[in-house]
Amino acid sequence: MARAYETVIGLEVHAQLKTATKLFCGCPTDYGAAPNTQVCPVCLGLPGALPVPNERAMELAAIAGLALGCDVRSESRFDRKNYFYPDLSKGYQISQFEHPLNLGGHLTFLVGDQEKTVGLTRIHVEEDAAKNLHGAGGGAATVVDFNRGGTPLIEIVSEPDLRSAVEAEAYLRKLRDVLMFLGVNDGNLEEGSFRCDANVSVRPVGQEEFGTRTEIKNINSFKFVRQAIDYEVSRQVGVLESGGRVVQETRGWNDVTGKTFSQRSKEDAHDYRYFPDPDLPPIVFGAERIEALRKAAPKLPEQLRAEWTSEWGLTPYDAEVLTGHPAIAAYFGEVAGALDAGGREPRAEAGKRAANFIQAEVLRDVKTSGLDATFSVPAADVAELLSRVQAGTLTGKQGKQVFSEMASSGEGAEAVIARLGVQAPISDTGALEGDIRAIIAANPAQHEQYKAGKTKVLGFFVGQVMRVTKGAADPATVNALLERLLQE
Ligand code: ADP
Ligand code: MG
Ligand code: ZN
Repeated sequence: MARAYETVIGLEVHAQLKTATKLFCGCPTDYGAAPNTQVCPVCLGLPGALPVPNERAMELAAIAGLALGCDVRSESRFDRKNYFYPDLSKGYQISQFEHPLNLGGHLTFLVGDQEKTVGLTRIHVEEDAAKNLHGAGGGAATVVDFNRGGTPLIEIVSEPDLRSAVEAEAYLRKLRDVLMFLGVNDGNLEEGSFRCDANVSVRPVGQEEFGTRTEIKNINSFKFVRQAIDYEVSRQVGVLESGGRVVQETRGWNDVTGKTFSQRSKEDAHDYRYFPDPDLPPIVFGAERIEALRKAAPKLPEQLRAEWTSEWGLTPYDAEVLTGHPAIAAYFGEVAGALDAGGREPRAEAGKRAANFIQAEVLRDVKTSGLDATFSVPAADVAELLSRVQAGTLTGKQGKQVFSEMASSGEGAEAVIARLGVQAPISDTGALEGDIRAIIAANPAQHEQYKAGKTKVLGFFVGQVMRVTKGAADPATVNALLERLLQE
């Protein structure tokens, strides 16, 4: 009978830091530029060119370290990691080895409804390599695009604390979320700005010692991470069950075959001949600077959710939806904040009003790409619109109609209201009573049904009133009046 095995996983995530320029030169980092147009002697590795560290990149890396509970070192250093590959024209990658910026740390996340905490080994800063394009243009050759070379990355190395593919995926999703809310990374897996190497081993249940691991390189989707780990676990169990032993090696993932494949035997640290880069001084962050970064760091989604459910009247579900993307969270913050500042209703009411409207109307046509999001109507204009609903000069229904015009025409609330001639809601009982009496008189059959106990026909009467008043009647006033007059 087959033995039972336990899976052990440690992840190395490469996340591109959201800077305008590269790590050691002034070349832009824009994605999608024509090949080899964002290069200079430094990032091409031409002899004699000297690197200058990008201060913003180091700050962003420290912000990530602070949010993930790392020990952010006041002094860190860059080392040269020496190896040959066509995408690395210097013959070495500038990375941090002996003295990384961030040590330790942890990430807590939910797996289903179970909380799990995974330890971090370190978060270091390094430059990205260029991009090899195999068989570009249908030819047999490999060409190199150096635009990506020298782009700043952080590598987040986890302890081998994960125990399943599902846990690995939950860890990655949470990590991506944190980095996006911090503004450190754009979370764009398709563009390769967040990618993962998965180290996987298995051991017989009860065995303390870890099994031999393989490392699956550069997986760029959550689904593929799950599939690659599951495949690798069953492959390793198969090897062990048939009496073989797992070879420590680097493997690739083929998303067409759904299999991992051997790429090369695993190199050890000493193979890279690490040594301190003589061209780069130590990076020094004083305690005050680190404190300032900690204070200025944006709020994380779980902090926002806690505040929004306790102060702003949101349900946990609403809070979850509205923290689905940093730009959506900022949008809600702006609308709810403006409504609250108007002082017309308690904060929890203002929060609920903003949350309901944004979820029902605004989120319908939001498009997100990386950290960017496009909204059909700016937050300030929605706040202005909703403050009219708050003040009672528009009904909720009119608010939605006006919003849909604002979205299609790009006008502000005031312009739309004037153009459509939207009337202020009629909550004047006297003005409505005449209309309602006329409607009741014109529909004697429904009136009889109501009196016979079929109170559902109330909806029919409400509809008639709204039609006659072109939606301008205040719904609460209409209901109260109808209930009274239908009894007569
Ligand atoms: P390298 O830089 O050579 O890949 P590291 O020692 O930095 O090696 O470890 C890389 C990753 O491998 C870490 O995330 C670590 O948690 C994970 N790891 C180490 N041993 C195992 C193992 N036996 N099974 C699964 N993951 C492991
Ligand atoms: Mg590794
Ligand atoms: Zn450059």
